[in-house]
Amino acid sequence: MPKAAAPGDMIACPECDALLRAVPLGPTERARCPRCGSLLVSPRVRSFLQVVALAFTALILMMAAVFFPFLGIAAHGLSHESSVIEVALAFSDGWLAPLSVAVLAVIVGLPMLRFCAIIYVLWPLANGRPAWPKARAAFRLAEGLTPWSMAEIFIVGTAVALVKIGGLATISIGPAFWAFCGLVIVTTLKNAFMSRWSIWAALERS
Ligand SMILES: [Zn+2]
Repeated sequence: MPKAAAPGDMIACPECDALLRAVPLGPTERARCPRCGSLLVSPRVRSFLQVVALAFTALILMMAAVFFPFLGIAAHGLSHESSVIEVALAFSDGWLAPLSVAVLAVIVGLPMLRFCAIIYVLWPLANGRPAWPKARAAFRLAEGLTPWSMAEIFIVGTAVALVKIGGLATISIGPAFWAFCGLVIVTTLKNAFMSRWSIWAALERS
């Protein structure tokens, strides 16, 4: 192990809650939990770049997921294809308007805000520059939004609905559905690469 850190510098394993003493690591070193082996601190600079790249990918996939046709439904010779944004706008002038705003915010707005905040925080750090102003506030915002980013739940809900409607109409899956699936995978990868501890540590230093 490299040199010891200050006594107050403790880090909790997110998997098994083991309380460990944090030590400063070089840019290419990684730290694993000695009890359960989960990754605590990943190699810093490369992981920041990976997270930025994944967040950009997620932003582009989100655009595709919102504007491309999501589902097509055909029954009795009639067919209709719509995108997520069309469905949301279809409800925008009735008493369901607040609901459609809330749904768009949770499925699209909050995840996009989170990706943008992460890019804002990590872009200068990944390039070895000092953090931009308000980077800590932006990262705290990104952390706070995590439980509210519900693209995954949306996909599961859609899959359940498809099984139910499947008997009544012919359903075709549009490119936006696959963009959403890609988004879920990219988001999971990004969360796996993102070491909160090393981002906070890098923000403290700059
Ligand atoms: Zn552990």
